[in-house]
Amino acid sequence: MQVTRSLFDEVMVPNYAPSKIIPVKGEGSRVWDQQGNEFIDFAGGIAVNCLGHCHPALVSALNDQADKLWHLSNVMTNEPALLLAKALVDATFAEKVYFANSGAESNEAALKLARRYAKDKYGEQKNQIIAFKQGFHGRTFFTVTVGGQPAYSDGFGPKPDAIVHAEFNNLDSLKALINDNTCAVMVEPVQGEGGVMPASKEFIKGVRELCDAHNALLIFDEVQTGVGRTGELYAYMGYGVTPDILTTAKALGGGFPIGAMLTTTEIAKHLVVGTHGSTYGGNPLACAVALAAVNTVNTPAVLSGVKAKAQLFKDGLNKINEKYHVFSEIRGAGLLIGAVLNSDYAGKARDIMLASAEEGLMALVAGTNVVRFAPSLVIPDADIEAGLARFEQAVASVVKG
Ligand SMILES: *Cc1c(COP(=O)(O)O)cnc(C)c1O
Repeated sequence: MQVTRSLFDEVMVPNYAPSKIIPVKGEGSRVWDQQGNEFIDFAGGIAVNCLGHCHPALVSALNDQADKLWHLSNVMTNEPALLLAKALVDATFAEKVYFANSGAESNEAALKLARRYAKDKYGEQKNQIIAFKQGFHGRTFFTVTVGGQPAYSDGFGPKPDAIVHAEFNNLDSLKALINDNTCAVMVEPVQGEGGVMPASKEFIKGVRELCDAHNALLIFDEVQTGVGRTGELYAYMGYGVTPDILTTAKALGGGFPIGAMLTTTEIAKHLVVGTHGSTYGGNPLACAVALAAVNTVNTPAVLSGVKAKAQLFKDGLNKINEKYHVFSEIRGAGLLIGAVLNSDYAGKARDIMLASAEEGLMALVAGTNVVRFAPSLVIPDADIEAGLARFEQAVASVVKG
């Protein structure tokens, strides 16, 4: 049977508008489509493929586990899940881990835990959740409501209650909302979907202080920033501010679906037997791959490599901008990079992404005004240079009109 892009429109729910390109193979930071066209991958599966495509360590972990045991259930625990939990506990502030299958599910668990903790400890009235405008936390109805983009949460009937939104990077705005009935504040250290906007250090420190003053839990959504993306294993480490709950997914599995919620023993104890769960959460296959991903990323060589590669990337983008004057700012953290269009090119991020694909480069957008890059953390420098050369061609073609 001939598999073509038109089959998508025939058989798939129309909630996505995928590119006409259908990739069939990937290796490192290169991808090939059905026709054999080659692409350099600066998108990384939206910050998922932290080790590129088919990294030997991940392929070998997957194959080894595939011959042993795929799935149990949470009626029994399993070795890969315990080893991964131990690795995450050893590497972070956390003392306890809950496994899920995606970022949204990890956040769902975090929000339910925060509500349960506050109710047990302080009473029913302590249920307010504060998040930030332009934030993104996933697509379940609870997480999409906590996310700060009404366009994603409107139109599905009554929403979960007691959720409000403050301005990101604006402590006064949070101060005006937080009170003794606030049970949690959820924040991305770098807003990813919302435009690759890093939180300032003062802001994150201030959020922590306000949470402490009101006995509210601080939840860091590190679904996009986690597992080496910023040059730290988790972005909180670079801020020097420790959350009470942290969620991680995307890069955690390097391309295999998995998510996790990390927290302390004191908080975790409120999710007693029966309060929450997941059929696949902690699945042996996923955990085996994720353990290989975490162990491979969490080395000084890879993490310092991220910072060096990020610099190479930014220097290259700035050079392109000196020539074509399309961006007002290159921002981000580590290899999560946003090129913000200036007013002359406002709204043209998608055009640049499509032009990039024409030149053999996979890029991303974050909203209509930001071109986003989230490549492999181990992308060879030569691929960065070759990809930027293609990106320059794409920018030139958009500038030409
Ligand atoms: C992608 C993302 C999510 C949602 O993750 P899914 O795996 O798509 O459910 C949540 N939060 C942040 C910050 C994300 O970038």
